[in-house]
Amino acid sequence: MPKGKIIVVSAPSGSGKSTLIKEIKQKFPDILESISTTTRLPREHEENGKHYFFVTKEEFLKQKREDDFIEWAEVHDNFYGTSKTFVETNLSQGNSVLFDIDVQGANNLKALYGDEARVIFILPPSLEELERRLRNRGTETETALNTRLRNARKEMEYKEKADFVLVNDDLEQSKEKMVSLVRGILEE
Ligand code: ADP
Ligand code: 5GP
Repeated sequence: MPKGKIIVVSAPSGSGKSTLIKEIKQKFPDILESISTTTRLPREHEENGKHYFFVTKEEFLKQKREDDFIEWAEVHDNFYGTSKTFVETNLSQGNSVLFDIDVQGANNLKALYGDEARVIFILPPSLEELERRLRNRGTETETALNTRLRNARKEMEYKEKADFVLVNDDLEQSKEKMVSLVRGILEE
């Protein structure tokens, strides 16, 4: 059986990554999304086991010690990690897996899987627009928002390494581009 594809989607926080991933999940229901483990507190609409596995810092560090993560990173003052078992089982069964991870995670997956992993990097049209979107979303405290904006400048440098770069300006056009990029990866 051919192995499934590894689709990595990365972006500075607030670029529209979750919005575009939602479109992919609707258009390609067979692609599985890797559910990460995090020490971040759940947002209002988020469910444990669906959006993330929400754990304490102690639980996270225990899983890390037990080598349960294929990759992990500290992002915006919280820990995030990807479960090894979930990924390897699904890939070997021929299922394609989509990862919503930060640029450190994208680097780690590239180091592990090379060209087997395809990275789509999403950028906002400008830093000003990124700030406007994050503020409108209204999910972050002022401190968390500033951390995310500060990190965005550095994260944007990742565009030189990505396999595909998508500037999320007009949402409808971006959804179409995203769908065509994913279709291309699945057909490679
Ligand atoms: P991320 O997952 O990258 O942090 P989100 O998908 O949550 O970002 O998007 C951040 C905010 O910007 C959300 O409120 C979303 O509805 C909005 N948004 C996403 N894409 C666009 C776009 N192309 N134009 C305007 N607003 C957008
Ligand atoms: P958020 O707190 O907004 O859900 O996510 C913050 C950042 O952490 C995003 O860039 C998201 O893609 C990233 N992230 C989520 N899960 C993981 C993971 O398992 N590993 C890594 N490296 N980053 C992750």
